[in-house]
Formats: sequence, C-alpha cells, structure tokens
Amino acid sequence: MTREVHHYINGAIVQGTSGRFGDVYNPALGAVQAKVALATREEVTTAIDAAQAAQPAWAALNPQRRARILGKFVDLIRANMDELASLLSSEHGKVLADARGDIERGLDVLEFSMGAPHLLKGENSDSVGSGIDTYSMRQPLGVVAGITPFNFPAMIPLWKLGPAVASGNAFILKPSERCPSVPFRLAELATEAGFPAGIVQVVNGDRTAVDALLEDPRVRAYGFVGSTPIAQSIYARAAELGKRAQCFGGAKNHCVIMPDADLDQVADALVGAAYGSAGERCMALSVALPVGKETADRLVEKLTERIAPLKVGAWDNPDADYGPLVGRDAYERVRSYIDQGVEAGADLLVDGRDLVVEGYESGFFIGPSLFDNVTKDMSIYTDEIFGPVLCIVRCADYEEALALVNDHEYGNGVAIMTNNGGAARDFAHRVQVGMVGINVPIPVPIGYYTFGGWKASSFGDLNQHGPDAFRFYTKTKTVTERWPSEPSTGAKFIMPLGDQS
Ligand code: NAD
Repeated sequence: MTREVHHYINGAIVQGTSGRFGDVYNPALGAVQAKVALATREEVTTAIDAAQAAQPAWAALNPQRRARILGKFVDLIRANMDELASLLSSEHGKVLADARGDIERGLDVLEFSMGAPHLLKGENSDSVGSGIDTYSMRQPLGVVAGITPFNFPAMIPLWKLGPAVASGNAFILKPSERCPSVPFRLAELATEAGFPAGIVQVVNGDRTAVDALLEDPRVRAYGFVGSTPIAQSIYARAAELGKRAQCFGGAKNHCVIMPDADLDQVADALVGAAYGSAGERCMALSVALPVGKETADRLVEKLTERIAPLKVGAWDNPDADYGPLVGRDAYERVRSYIDQGVEAGADLLVDGRDLVVEGYESGFFIGPSLFDNVTKDMSIYTDEIFGPVLCIVRCADYEEALALVNDHEYGNGVAIMTNNGGAARDFAHRVQVGMVGINVPIPVPIGYYTFGGWKASSFGDLNQHGPDAFRFYTKTKTVTERWPSEPSTGAKFIMPLGDQS
C-alpha cells in the first residue's frame, strides 16, 4: 500500500479528510512513492484554534526555558540525521551529503534562535524627561505561519520555525506538497523535544490551505519562500489584510569573472554552484560573466574539462555529484528552456537533455548543460530555469558585466571572482543584489547574519534569520513611565517635550 503523509495538529497526527491527495515522487525512479493529504479549510482552522489556545502560556514562559526546548529539538534532529537525510533525498532527489547540508543549515538557525533571551531584550533610557523613564519590549505576534518551497525541505522550515517559536509565537507550517515527509517528522520531533501541543504544527496542502491561513484574522504573519509570482501575490494579500509578511522569491545569480582571477578556482567553483543539487537552489549560479574574450575562451575550456567527468545519479549513489530534478514538470520545463536557448541562437556546448542513468531510465535526470554566447534578450538569460544549466554571457569590460547584474529583474545572490581588491570593493558597493560573494560562489550568510535578496527576489523589508527574523516575529512596545512624588501643577496643553531645560 502507498505510504500516506497527513497533518500534525495539536501534538498529534491528524488524518486528512478532504479525500484529495498530492503525489510524492521518488524522482530518481520517476515513480510515485507516497501520497500527501491536502488539507481542507476546516483542518487548517483546527490547527489555528490549537495554536491560538496554546500561544499565551508559551509566550509567558521564561525565554530561557523556550530556548532549552529548542536545544533538545536540535539534539533530536542530530540524533535522527540519517533517517531525515534519507527521507529528504528520496523525495527531493538531491544526493545524501547535500541533504545533510540542508538539515545542518537549518540547525544553524535553530542554534542562533537559542540566543532568544538576549535577542529579545528591549532598550531602556533613564530620565528622558523630568522623572520620566522610557523602555521598550519585544512581544510575540501570536499565531504565525510559514509557507515553504520544495527545494530545501528542512532548512527553510527550520529558518522560519526557530525564530518564530523562540520569540513566543505558535507556528503553523504549510510545507511544499512535493517533499512533505521531513517537515512532518520535524513536527513529531518537536513534540518529543517538549514543545507544548499547538506550538509547532504542520498542515499539508495546496492553495486551499494557504488561503485558509491567509484569510483567518488570527494568523498575524507569514514567512513565505517560493517562486516570485506566488511570493508577490501572498505579500500583496497579506498587506491588504493588514498583516505582516516577508516573501522571498526566485533568482538568477550571476558570477562576474575578472581577467586576473585564478580560472582553475573559478571553474571548480562554478561547476559546483551551477550544477550542485541539479541547479535547484535559489543561490545557484546560473550565469557566468567573463570579462574579456581571452578570459571567456579560457573559462570555456576549463568548464568543459570539468563537466565531462561529472556523475549524475540517484540520491543514494555515493559517487553521484547531483541527482534528478524534483518532478516531471520541472524536468520538462528545464528541457524546454534548453530547446529555447538553441532556437534563440546560443551555442549549446554541453547538452544534458538526453542523459539516461542506467537502472533509472524513468528518472527526471538532466545532465549538466552549458551555453556560450548567450545574450540578454534570450529566455535562458531572463528567466529562472532552476535546473543544471549554466549560461555564459561574454562581456567586453567590468562596467558591462556590472550593468547586466544590476539591470536583471532578480537580485538574490551574486559573486565576483578576482584578485583585485579595488575591483571587489567597487563591486560590493555598487551591485544591486542582496547577498554578495567575493571569490565565494554561493554566499549564503551564516545564521547570525540575515538572508535575503533584492528586487523581484524579495518582498518585505526584513530578511530571514539573524536579528531581522526576531524583529519580524515580534512587535515592539515602548513604555514611558513617571511616578510623581510632587503635587500636581495642573493640566498642560503643549506637546510633551523630552528636554524641558
Ligand atoms: P512555489 O512557489 O511553487 O511553491 C512555494 C510554496 O507556495 C509551496 O508551499 C506551495 O504549495 C505554495 N503555493 C504554490 N502555488 C500557490 C498558490 N497559487 N497559492 C498559494 N500557495 C501556493 O515554489 P517551489 O517550486 O516550491 O520552489 C522553488 C522556488 O523557490 C524557486 O523560484 C526558488 O528560487 C525559490 N526559492 C527562493 C528562496 C529565497 O530565499 N529567495 C529560497 C529557496 C527557494
């Protein structure tokens, strides 16, 4: 019988009643391995009821006690790493070592969130007026929701969960219906770690579940990660309803290669960052911008040498560099982009379209693909392909490369490869992108900094994790107090002034 994944509501497994299920694939086999229940509005409402009931006592708990429970959760995730990584890989397709990295990067933010007792401290100013003091406090929002994508089934849910619950909120996760098993297991482990029922819940589902979360006035904030059109629409809807949202969208990350860069280092970095996880990373490098013809010619030679021996295989093949795409639709979309690139006149130097992996003939595999002489009007340049496709756009000089990055619709990550400190500094200051790597191909900031793109890669003014996440999941209250010891001198009709000297 096919395995089924249901919901985790109020500290227990709740069987879905909609009769609607999504297919969960093993993308290496191209076959359905499980079914995920798609929630009804009523099931989402039950989760919100439980969250609303549990949150006040959770918020009243000493933040250090909350942090200790988070610490136990971290330990339990580490203790179950093998099981979680296998589950994650088998549904997503990324290779096991990469799945462990996905989980570890989530733990990074849980560990940061254990610093909540410090991060939630307010400010205090004595004597802002005569006998008057002012202090501020950070209070949780109440019930908050995370809506997350398929490509990091552990990391992104944990990026939302950690700061949300450490701040005293109750958190409801609506994970991607493509890879639901790890988020579900995380909710079970959260209960085992000691989170009270209703504080960490998972409702599986599709748009119906998201709409129910959006429209219930008790849910006060949304942490969304996914494609740009959905990010933008959820941000707009939340704003219309007077709620808080931070919505992170798609990407097209460029890498500028200066003539002085060490091209062996660059080619190794590019191959890993373009093809790792089959290119299904929002920080994948998908455009290389070599500066000058000689740089471009040498880069092409070094890239093609390195692409030839790459191994594409199933998630549990320890020799595989990367695995299949997540689903048939993703596979067809990536193939169609490669077709479009060829039709538009780009030079397809390495064609991954017809790759067949022995023993996995129905798997959603695409080999590493490399285009040269791509121009900025081509769809393979303008659109996020989200597959193992690297495009080279040749640039005459640094200014042309910088202008391409800055004119692109997306602004998530970017890298510059150079030995010239002046060029690197100029780039870091002038580039219109949220996360910049200097000789670092995938500049994902560590958990105590913040993560977020610019332009169409992000909607909202606060980033994920780091101190921004604590600002997002709390509201500030400022108290001004006075304890009069003298008799009243009568009513005053002017605006109170701080400095009355
Ligand atoms: P997606 O937009 O299809 O789905 C994301 C979430 O939204 C899922 O939970 C999904 O169920 C839900 N959803 C889908 N359609 C919806 C609708 N019409 N209404 C309401 N909810 C809906 O994204 P995906 O394919 O799962 O993920 C890949 C995308 O995520 C890529 O564009 C990638 O760049 C982006 N991403 C961005 C970041 C970032 O931090 N900027 C990180 C990871 C992934």
